[in-house]
Amino acid sequence: MKKQPGAKRHLVLVGNGMAGARLLEELLERGASDQFEITVFGDEPYGNYNRIMLSHVLAGEDGEESIYLNEIGWYAENGIELRSGVRVVDIDLPAKEVVGADGGRTAYDVVVIATGSSPHFPPMDGLRREDGSLLPGVSGFRSLDETRAMLEEARRYGTASTPAKAVVIGGGLLGLEAAKGLQNHGLDVSVIHSPAHLMNQQLDAEAGAVLRRSIEEAGISVVTGARTTGLTACTEKGRVSGVTLKDGRTFPADMVVVTAGIRPNTDVGVRAGLVVERGIVVDDQMRCVDQPLGDGDGGLGGHVFALGECAQHRGETYGLVAPLWEQATVLADVLTGADPDAAYHGSKTSTKLKVAGVDVASIGQSGPVHPEDEHVVFSDARRGLYQSVVVRDGRLVGATLLGDTRKTAALQQAFDRGLPLPEQRVELLFDLGAGGETSVEDLADDAQVCNCNGVTKGDICGAVAGGCSSVKGVMDATRAGKGCGSCKEVVGKLVEHAVAAGGGALTEDPSVHWYVPGVPLRKDELVAAIREQHLTSVSAVFAALAPGGAEDAKSKMGLTSLLRTLWPTEFVDERDARFINDRVHANIQRDGTFSVVPQMKGGVTTPDQLRRIADVADKYGVGMLKVTGGQRIDMLGVKKEDLPGVWADLDMPSGYAYGKSMRTVKTCVGTDYCRFGLGDSTALGIALEERFQGIETPAKLKLGVVGCPRNCAEAYVKDVGVVAIGNGKWEVYVGGAAGASVRKADLLATVDSPEAVIQLTGRFIQFYRTWGNWLERTYDFVPRLSIERVRLVLVEDSDGMCAQLDEEIDAACAAYRDPWKEREAPDAPGRFSAPALPLLPLPVVPRRPMGAPGGTPRDQLPVEIVMPNEEALMAGAQQ
Ligand SMILES: Cc1cc2nc3c(=O)[nH]c(=O)nc-3n(C[C@H](O)[C@H](O)[C@H](O)COP(=O)(O)OP(=O)(O)OC[C@H]3O[C@@H](n4cnc5c(N)ncnc54)[C@H](O)[C@@H]3O)c2cc1C
Ligand code: SF4
Repeated sequence: MKKQPGAKRHLVLVGNGMAGARLLEELLERGASDQFEITVFGDEPYGNYNRIMLSHVLAGEDGEESIYLNEIGWYAENGIELRSGVRVVDIDLPAKEVVGADGGRTAYDVVVIATGSSPHFPPMDGLRREDGSLLPGVSGFRSLDETRAMLEEARRYGTASTPAKAVVIGGGLLGLEAAKGLQNHGLDVSVIHSPAHLMNQQLDAEAGAVLRRSIEEAGISVVTGARTTGLTACTEKGRVSGVTLKDGRTFPADMVVVTAGIRPNTDVGVRAGLVVERGIVVDDQMRCVDQPLGDGDGGLGGHVFALGECAQHRGETYGLVAPLWEQATVLADVLTGADPDAAYHGSKTSTKLKVAGVDVASIGQSGPVHPEDEHVVFSDARRGLYQSVVVRDGRLVGATLLGDTRKTAALQQAFDRGLPLPEQRVELLFDLGAGGETSVEDLADDAQVCNCNGVTKGDICGAVAGGCSSVKGVMDATRAGKGCGSCKEVVGKLVEHAVAAGGGALTEDPSVHWYVPGVPLRKDELVAAIREQHLTSVSAVFAALAPGGAEDAKSKMGLTSLLRTLWPTEFVDERDARFINDRVHANIQRDGTFSVVPQMKGGVTTPDQLRRIADVADKYGVGMLKVTGGQRIDMLGVKKEDLPGVWADLDMPSGYAYGKSMRTVKTCVGTDYCRFGLGDSTALGIALEERFQGIETPAKLKLGVVGCPRNCAEAYVKDVGVVAIGNGKWEVYVGGAAGASVRKADLLATVDSPEAVIQLTGRFIQFYRTWGNWLERTYDFVPRLSIERVRLVLVEDSDGMCAQLDEEIDAACAAYRDPWKEREAPDAPGRFSAPALPLLPLPVVPRRPMGAPGGTPRDQLPVEIVMPNEEALMAGAQQ
């Protein structure tokens, strides 16, 4: 069917990783939303994240929440349909349709493939189980899910008195980052690398030897020139127990990470019949070759494009982000017509190792290739130093810096721009006579400072000239420093220099202290203004306090929570200011269904409640019933339109499993049944849950009460933990955590009655509600203020605020209303009538364990388990 003139074309993007996401941003910048309806398929169930930062997440240097580039909400805000968790299996070129693994077909005018790469697993005996899955304990290092799984295993095995053993197969960039990350969690790590020296792709043998010494000094053992041919499994545990080398040597291993290279994900291209060699072959405009000229596609010519690690351009595939940024710019220019002649000519690459304490930068060639190449080397292995440059025809074609990488920016500039070099080549590495390091002043305007994001010195100076006078402001404006982070120091110096050169003074970006990004006030200022002007709705806050009265989507949830805290009864609820979970009082899951968790105070239930839960699960076809770590029952897979019916039939209050609010009070058995109990922990837990149910807090809040210091309900790692110690006394701990972070809580006070526990807990919660930053968990809040300060304020009443805190928490508790009562009168007529997202089949999750009575036999599972094609893998390995 011909498009109506002026109608928007449909652009479908397959792959929601770093290249795809960058393309979307470049497209939006060029006003593509006026030309295209955009749909994005990504088989990972997230928005998109900075994959580079997985190394920092594994090393425990960053939390996973800090690596998101664009979260799921960003897509909707920009009018982009995101089909997250949906794998594309084919592109039907004649029909111009993309085919999802769910069987759905989506028509396109233009399709872009950005499917990235997958870890390469070399052929090894025992690598896979019969069903094709990896032997438990073996993992690649590519995705957030794999990183999470590795962290989980490292935590499980890394804390014993005899350190657990990890073997990393592959001593390239990724392998060394994985090794250091695991070592940070207490594992005893060995790297096994088949080439003769580490990072052989980037370093020559001498540099590799210096690097090896630094890595070994950091406590990681290294075996080179050794091929792993098999994995052994422990029959008892059913997981990996060791690796065997070709020469017969064996190494014990509790976990194995394989970082032996990557293979472009070309399946979709192969199935569609595109030209595929190592990657999907593209021309200088990122157009898949041999594509017929498009009919009615706005002059785009071929309508299938590819970019990123899955693409092969002029015979090259890339495994770094800098090339794909350049590709995204060109493709966005071509697709939007901003520059129809834009062309990509290939990239020069450079890399840095992100291992704390081991500085390695590698640019271009690692050593001489032609007989007339000049190679200047300085090596001091004992001090972990190695520096070299390769010069050809008077131009820098390569540089390696180990142990001291201060010259990287200057050398990168010479490499990128082909600058004339000093006659004394050694001056490239050392400041002879003059002393000190190369100043940022010496860098040319087009010297690339941030390779990950392609930001030049000129871009940074431009941002300063445009009014940014803080490092954070410049980083936000240009993205410099937001990739692997290794250029942050140079960026900081450049900003400082540019600000001073303009006659200004460096400032700290005030927004780092704002409570929400859209209202330029710290929390105390914001609270004072809201109280003074009696602002009771989110829109009123924007109108009165945001610059130009502008509403800001990212600020709405934080403001809603704050206003509820400040005005328990007068708060005006505006539903668009809530996150989907808060709008429908249930937790959205990756397939667009919801999970429903009824309240079960203190983890105690009755036969009648259990019967009702079972009946409701059958009536509404609940996908899975799961006992949670918070001692409740989670009903997973409920359709949005069924929520009111489920709540009505359960006739139990909400357990608030979805909210930034008080969630559960976990209790131990306590005095009634336990032989050791010193206090009735169950009764106190129930009383606490009853009193503080549904209270909004800056971030989720979990409590625990135990009947003695044996601590069966893990009270020491709760936001508020209460421990009976005998003689009617209870210890109250605050600021603990056992999630993404683990922190033992601090003792706030010892009190001598359950009533005193309830009062002190309420006071602490209200204090945290008033002074905690949005999304700040108590494990950050308490150390930020210090436990001594919290104790002074809440126990000694040093600031005379205890009476007010007690009064405020009383009012908040009195205003409790079960949100599930909304089933009787939804705020909007269509609130529960339409599904939230298209429903997708979930991965294989048996409702009852396989082999258990009533369990599902594997061959009857709803989703087929796909066996990886071993032959294809082997073929790939030999390429
Ligand atoms: C731990 C780690 C550290 C790294 N460090 C650095 C570094 O310091 N510097 C550097 O330059 N680079 C680094 N890289 C490499 C960099 O992350 C990649 O070059 C970059 O992510 C490639 O982007 P891409 O979009 O091509 O692929 P990806 O980011 O992998 O994205 C591809 C996406 O497509 C999805 N997908 C695949 N097939 C389908 C399908 N059929 N249907 C739907 N979705 C599909 C994938 O699940 C994935 O989400 C690192 C990589 C890792 C894993
Ligand atoms: S914490 Fe103490 S009282 Fe509670 S169940 Fe464990 S042993 Fe019993």
